[in-house]
Amino acid sequence: MKTRKKSPRPSKTSRAPAKPKRGQPTEATSTEKRGITPAYAAQSPKTPLAPFNIQRRDVRPNDVQLEILYCGVCHSDVHMARNEWGQTIYPVVPGHEIVGRVTAVGNKVTRFRNGDLAGVGVMVDSCRECANCRKGLEQYCTVGMVLTYSARDKRTGEITQGGYSKRIVTHEDFVFRLSDALPLAGVAPLLCAGITTYSPLRHWKVGKGTKLGVVGLGGLGHMAVKFGASFGAEVTMLSHSPDKEKDARRLGAHKFALTSDPAQLESLAGYFDFILDTVSAKHDYDKYLNLLGLDRTMVCVGIPPAPMEVQVFALMGGRRRLSSSGIGGVPETQEMLDYCAEHNIASDIELIDIADINDAYARMLKSDVRYRFVIDMASLS
Ligand code: NAP
Ligand code: ZN
Ligand code: ZN
Repeated sequence: MKTRKKSPRPSKTSRAPAKPKRGQPTEATSTEKRGITPAYAAQSPKTPLAPFNIQRRDVRPNDVQLEILYCGVCHSDVHMARNEWGQTIYPVVPGHEIVGRVTAVGNKVTRFRNGDLAGVGVMVDSCRECANCRKGLEQYCTVGMVLTYSARDKRTGEITQGGYSKRIVTHEDFVFRLSDALPLAGVAPLLCAGITTYSPLRHWKVGKGTKLGVVGLGGLGHMAVKFGASFGAEVTMLSHSPDKEKDARRLGAHKFALTSDPAQLESLAGYFDFILDTVSAKHDYDKYLNLLGLDRTMVCVGIPPAPMEVQVFALMGGRRRLSSSGIGGVPETQEMLDYCAEHNIASDIELIDIADINDAYARMLKSDVRYRFVIDMASLS
């Protein structure tokens, strides 16, 4: 696989291209006008992603159209492209870490204008009326949020398609404002990896005085390390990859433990106040539960395809709690993006061409990601 750029912080060239004059619509080509949009899709669980045209809807009064500049590659994209959770609707265009430039807005849109930078994350709609939606927790909508891809649009019944594409049209309530203070390609992963780790760390009040353990140093894990350190926690990286220790410390971890070494884990028995498990594959949860202190909590955000197995003794011996957390609501996602802009936090990325997406998936499956692949959408014609 040919990785075009590999840098802990994206270089200047990954900043957003020149901006059209604010408020001025850009000239749409005849193809764009018909909504036909180049993309990459999987046609079945076994077929690799390949070029595919999708039809984007016309801009409705509350819609924002983005020209996608960068899209992060989440392990959920791999699970979904291969139907590992049994819910994929084919053909599927994955991608829910989307950043770009606004190229059209509906006549009722108030928060965005042409030329603005904006982002779209994991969901594009919800009922907006249930108790959870009213609290700004749209991800827990009791009617069901609408995922950015492989879900049914509530109004038209069309199947949503994600960010491995040139353009997306989304209701403005699910579009986020982005600062231009950070390298844009490194901002894309904040829309999923960022919020999925920020939200539980905030909810469980991880900060000064918390001994935080993060399991798995991938896209989510490296953001959890950054946020944990930024919030003032003592961060320990729990990884099964010995060669990631140096990076873990550079990202902000104070300690590193190799999870394949029983002696290292034994020395941490009962040590942690909070553990965030980001592992994408089948693994032993009891091993990490035993590292929690009395009444402490482990939150699993990683979603391996198979159901988890937990021995009750691992919970009972310390009245421990086991929980999970899904992305974050709209207000908290904007809060997280603003926090990142203020504290200079972005994802460490490898920028790739879209033609290399299948190789990127293969590398993620080998835990060989440093620490998020981001597609440069200029490579999709
Ligand atoms: P990723 O970048 O591929 O990272 C996963 C990491 O898990 C790997 O880098 C590796 O870290 C560790 N790992 C992988 N296989 C392992 C194994 N067999 N045993 C032990 N450790 C292993 O994935 P990601 O994008 O961060 O996503 C992680 C998981 O979170 C996925 O299941 C994804 O679907 C899920 N997710 C959930 C939400 C949510 O809302 N809850 C949102 C987004 C993603 P080390 O090499 O350091 O061990
Ligand atoms: Zn994701
Ligand atoms: Zn709702």
